Amino acid sequence: MSYINENFLELQESYLFSTIAKKVAKYTEENPDKKIIKLGIGDVTRPIVPACINALHKAVDEMGTIQGFKGYGPEQGYEFLRKAIVKNDYQSRGIEIEEDEIFVSDGAKCDTGNIVDIFAKENIVALTDPVYPVYLDTNVMAERSGKFNPNEGTYQNIIYLPVMAENNFKPELPKQRVDMIYLCFPNNPTGTVLNKKELQKWVDYARENHSIILYDSAYEAFITQKDVPHSIYEVQGAKEVAIEFRSFSKTAGFTGLRCGYVVIPKQVKGFTKEGKEVQYNQLWNRRTCTKFNGVSYIIQRAAEAVYSEEGQKQIRENINYYMENARIIREGLEKAGITYYGGVNAPYVWLKVPEGKSSWEFFDILLRESNVVGTPGSGFGPHGEGYFRLTAFGTKENTIEAMERIKSKGC
Ligand code: PLP
Repeated sequence: MSYINENFLELQESYLFSTIAKKVAKYTEENPDKKIIKLGIGDVTRPIVPACINALHKAVDEMGTIQGFKGYGPEQGYEFLRKAIVKNDYQSRGIEIEEDEIFVSDGAKCDTGNIVDIFAKENIVALTDPVYPVYLDTNVMAERSGKFNPNEGTYQNIIYLPVMAENNFKPELPKQRVDMIYLCFPNNPTGTVLNKKELQKWVDYARENHSIILYDSAYEAFITQKDVPHSIYEVQGAKEVAIEFRSFSKTAGFTGLRCGYVVIPKQVKGFTKEGKEVQYNQLWNRRTCTKFNGVSYIIQRAAEAVYSEEGQKQIRENINYYMENARIIREGLEKAGITYYGGVNAPYVWLKVPEGKSSWEFFDILLRESNVVGTPGSGFGPHGEGYFRLTAFGTKENTIEAMERIKSKGC
């Protein structure tokens, strides 16, 4: 007889996107003449830029030649890509990161999920509420949570850091000592950010408490304001306490191609029970070599092309396209008299649903009155209740039309 990993039974079923799909399907069936506009999607819609497509074609052709063929590559990523990352994402911002502190992967979802392997079960986890659900669920799977409390919508042993209008979406330092802190800025779902000074507070806390910050900056390319850090390593002392996750998904439309990376500086250390210091870089390297055989050569060549001059210009055009959508959404909400947050340094706008309505009630009203689909905030955690997420990843035409409808109906 085999026994299952019972931690999986503690996971709460996420009905968020399936419920949305069901509600939209039902409405469409009953109202076949209505044109629904989806502003709920978290996936990009602009095609891969020509610089990356050319690099892909070239790499495919290479693979068909004796000289150019590549079999297994280095598990940590090819040198050409790790070098390009170090130079363009870090040295260009005055940050010294070494190539062997970069681990190329098939995306930030896997990295933020798999990282739990190198931490002891006893660590106390803190995460923001609302939150990108991967951080929470992977810690539940790894037995770092207790039981789920259905009344509160929270797990025992997990420290929730509420982010809401009342604290300007800036999480407060935990009252008790925590070991692993998940931070994601620019934030999904709220679209809000921390400036350097606000992030410094977290780095100082982590240094004082020997905690590790797991910093997800998958949306850094959308930052428009100067004092918002693109990398946590722009903050003093962060190289001792922070692991950073990056992704080409939203930056360069790689959600289907799949490529990202994680940065683990060698100064970032944890302890054995006997108090001996160990580099997390060493552990992650060992894990990577054991469980992963690297991202495909052709995808890594496409990722390298993101950093070419034309690649940078082309991806910037796409990012500007999405950020123009974000501006249209913000302007539309303002005219409709709806309070909103985010959308300046992120492709997400987080709006406050009208007083007395729940996130799901607002979803139904918006679908019925304006035929627009968004994402109820309560799906991201209990403190998401009363909020609603609109994304800037649609087409400009649809975004304009959606906002016209919302303005004319008031919602
Ligand atoms: N991190 C955050 C905060 C995200 O919102 C997403 C995707 O939506 C990811 C990571 C996943 O990125 P990837 O496509 O690289 O797996």
